[in-house]
Amino acid sequence: LFAGPVDFLKGVVAMNGLPAADRPEVCFAGRSNVGKSSLINALTGRKGIARASNTPGRTQEINYFTLGQQAYLVDLPGYGFAKAPVAVVAKWQALLKNYLAGRQTLRRAFCLIDSRHGVKDVDHEIMTLLDRSAVPFQVVMTKTDKLGPNAIKPVLAQVEEALQKHPAAYPEIVVTSSEKGHGIATLRTIIAGLD
Ligand code: GDP
Repeated sequence: LFAGPVDFLKGVVAMNGLPAADRPEVCFAGRSNVGKSSLINALTGRKGIARASNTPGRTQEINYFTLGQQAYLVDLPGYGFAKAPVAVVAKWQALLKNYLAGRQTLRRAFCLIDSRHGVKDVDHEIMTLLDRSAVPFQVVMTKTDKLGPNAIKPVLAQVEEALQKHPAAYPEIVVTSSEKGHGIATLRTIIAGLD
């Protein structure tokens, strides 16, 4: 899936704005500030292509990127942002629910988890949505450079335990640092291996 140049295609705010489901896609989900933009930038080798999810105005958009002609990379809006108004959260949840349930070409979701925080309630909510939508998902730990090699072990154990509750979860966890470039090639290989 990972051949050809990466380009921003469009921001989608409603189901009827989705591009035609004519090629496979992968999506990225995570709490606001988890490091999703940094990871997408590192993954695509395009600094600044994904903007921080807390950029006003882009928060609620599903951002589509093209991976050459072959596939889409989809950046879902960051969730769990405490200051978001209730109506905005509800609209976002409805769009997300409809997207996950209805997107036949979605091959895999990557759920980003901050290495310092582990799986939180809001992450469980998204994972439950993925279970119910039968979207296979894989956890990607972010910002691992912020932790020592021993400090990550208990967090990984917590994540592994959390994943037991989710039938749609892949057992393998991808450990990354966008800052140091760790795990980026692994993630790229995983995406390239999807068909
Ligand atoms: P988003 O809101 O999920 O898109 O998060 P961003 O990619 O904007 O990152 C949020 C903050 O975490 C920024 O200050 C980043 O510089 C920082 N950050 C992201 N990835 C890493 C990482 O791998 N290591 C470190 N140390 N900081 C990171």
